[in-house]
Amino acid sequence: MDKVKNLTHNKDSNFNPQISKDTPVQYVKGVGPARARLLERLGMKTLEDMLYYFPWRYEDRKNLKNIRDLRYGNLETTMCEVTSAEIITTPKRKMKIFEITVTDKTGYLKSRWFNQPYLERYFKKGQKVILSGVVKGNPYSMTGAEMDNPDYELVGDEDTFIHTARMVPVYKATEGISPKQVRTIMFNVVTNCSSIIEDYLPAEVLGRNGLMPLHQAVQEAHFPEEFTDAGALNQGVSPAHRRLAFDEFFLLELGLAVLKKRETIEEGISFEDKGVLVNRFLQGLPFELTAAQKRVMAEIRADMKRPLPMNRLVHGDVGCGKTVVALVSMLIAVENGYQACLMAPTELLAEQHFINIHRMVEALGINIVLVTSGSKGKSSGDIAQGTAQIVIGTHALIQEHLKFSKLGLAIIDEQHRFGVVQRADLRRKGSSPDILIMTATPIPRTLALTLYGDLDISIIDELPSGRKPIITRVFFSSQKEKVLSLMKEELSGDRQIYIVYPLIEESEKLDLKSAVEGFEAFKRIFPERKIGLVHGRIPRDEREAVMAKFKAGEIDILVATTVIEVGIDVPNASLMLVIHAERFGLAQLHQLRGRIGRGGHDSHCLLMAYPPFGEEAKRRLKGMESTCDGFKIAEEDLDIRGPGDFFGTRQSGIPDLKIANIVRDIKLLEAARREAFDLIEAGPDLRSYPLLKETLKKKWMGRLELMKS
Ligand code: ADP
Ligand code: MG
Repeated sequence: MDKVKNLTHNKDSNFNPQISKDTPVQYVKGVGPARARLLERLGMKTLEDMLYYFPWRYEDRKNLKNIRDLRYGNLETTMCEVTSAEIITTPKRKMKIFEITVTDKTGYLKSRWFNQPYLERYFKKGQKVILSGVVKGNPYSMTGAEMDNPDYELVGDEDTFIHTARMVPVYKATEGISPKQVRTIMFNVVTNCSSIIEDYLPAEVLGRNGLMPLHQAVQEAHFPEEFTDAGALNQGVSPAHRRLAFDEFFLLELGLAVLKKRETIEEGISFEDKGVLVNRFLQGLPFELTAAQKRVMAEIRADMKRPLPMNRLVHGDVGCGKTVVALVSMLIAVENGYQACLMAPTELLAEQHFINIHRMVEALGINIVLVTSGSKGKSSGDIAQGTAQIVIGTHALIQEHLKFSKLGLAIIDEQHRFGVVQRADLRRKGSSPDILIMTATPIPRTLALTLYGDLDISIIDELPSGRKPIITRVFFSSQKEKVLSLMKEELSGDRQIYIVYPLIEESEKLDLKSAVEGFEAFKRIFPERKIGLVHGRIPRDEREAVMAKFKAGEIDILVATTVIEVGIDVPNASLMLVIHAERFGLAQLHQLRGRIGRGGHDSHCLLMAYPPFGEEAKRRLKGMESTCDGFKIAEEDLDIRGPGDFFGTRQSGIPDLKIANIVRDIKLLEAARREAFDLIEAGPDLRSYPLLKETLKKKWMGRLELMKS
């Protein structure tokens, strides 16, 4: 007995030694093994998970109404007394309906529940109850108001109401457990266990940003007592939500600040800018660099010279000429006796880079190899011995067994598909190599701050001169004739056409079929024209042969799936027809469109849409019509899709944002970022904030190398 007593006796009377954040849900009061399995299905494994399992919406049931004032069609809550209760069995289907009549002296209300005869036990005549449900029937007629399956609570003497008479949280539930049962469990957890939440934020940060204590925020986000504005709660901007969102941003930015700080501590390679290879390469280029290209190259060259690891992101619109910039930096590495690699997200893109770069550096006598999952082991000897000077590849580059002899520079193209984790993996292939990241998707500032918050950023905000604007128009499937006549016009001017079909992973076969069918159809429509077909299933050399023919002008119309997104550069192709444009994402459409508008002619992008389609698709198509500016497109894309999808945090390896929304909460993000970076600046090891440090490490799941201690 004594032992038990000692255990439960603690300085802090709120502290219960039997539960902690990591207590499995099964051992939480009111759960048990069966329900634990259901909760796990909802993503809850520990007590902490439960406390952070927030409602997805709230229902305002705090205003108790008189029966007389109930409005038809509304969700209403009323307190009343049972006058009669009975079970009715339907004659045909033998369904048991439990029906009660209640009154509050201003009127009568009928309520019924289906197949729950046991309710008879609770609703005795004279029992006071609160009912909350959607009002049916006509409260002004003789029959009075009715509610089917309302939420109910029996009113005792000293009750706390969970489901009625308050701002009621609504949780996502699953088969086997109702939203109401989840609510009951959550109520117990929040009332009994939220004291285990410790506030890890420095008090000054709370003060400066007007944030409420963490345990209060958790309580209020579940069962609002103090801040019960339904609008604010449902939009996720109540004071409780603000605190929780701030924390998500803060922990994210704090991690990024740690990563960024590392650069200034770690030793990197100082490349000498000899300029021999680079100058020979630049002199051989058939064009002048744009001012933006020159500026960004200078930034990179300065970075590479410094004895710290470079961590730079280059972003700029499709066709702004990032490849040349990447190549120059690779040449600097090679000239210093180091290897350089370039990692692309798809085989096709890797191959394309390989072909382009190979052609560009051929004359310089540089040994360049391609590594994809298909090219198993072939060049790994060359890479390990260092005879391969430039290595182009897919994520096959970060495979365990691939060893570099002396990797000095790693470039990642199309970064939006890679994340922090892959970046770290690539970095480990050398000893503190310089890292350059290139993305063709311009990133809204808000996203750049978060996804790339640990990087220095360069922007190529200028297209090579002589590019003509692209005129984009949406056509509906009913306007085929008009589209065909525009195509004929273009062809008669001896120019070429792309026709793009969608390729959606789940139904690859089906879409392949539509491209092939389209190819046949266009052959019939333009019998006098040469038409080519490329898609991902055609072997690489055949695909290349077709593309080469298109480039040489031997093919007039190229029918393709999205493989051409990253494919070829054909200045004479001045029209693109996108079939089922409503199925494409905005960023992808913009990428595709970047394949035209490269010659001296006006270019046309025709987006063929097949109704019916939703609001979002409509906005995407409108967005394409209204601007060619990649940055505006990116903002619009973010706005339409919302950050979750765009952000892809799970994939990128940075902490999830569950409550916070980078678009809606941009001010909060900026504040959190400032606080986080200031804190790391003041003391990068967070020595004075052990609890914060522990929370940070947990959130980033061991990805913050600096914080090993
Ligand atoms: P992206 O930034 O989309 O990767 P690329 O590097 O593929 O663009 O360049 C697109 C095209 O523009 C290529 O054919 C490239 O040779 C050409 N290019 C790059 N820089 C210039 C320039 N300064 N002037 C003219 N053409 C250029
Ligand atoms: Mg590119």
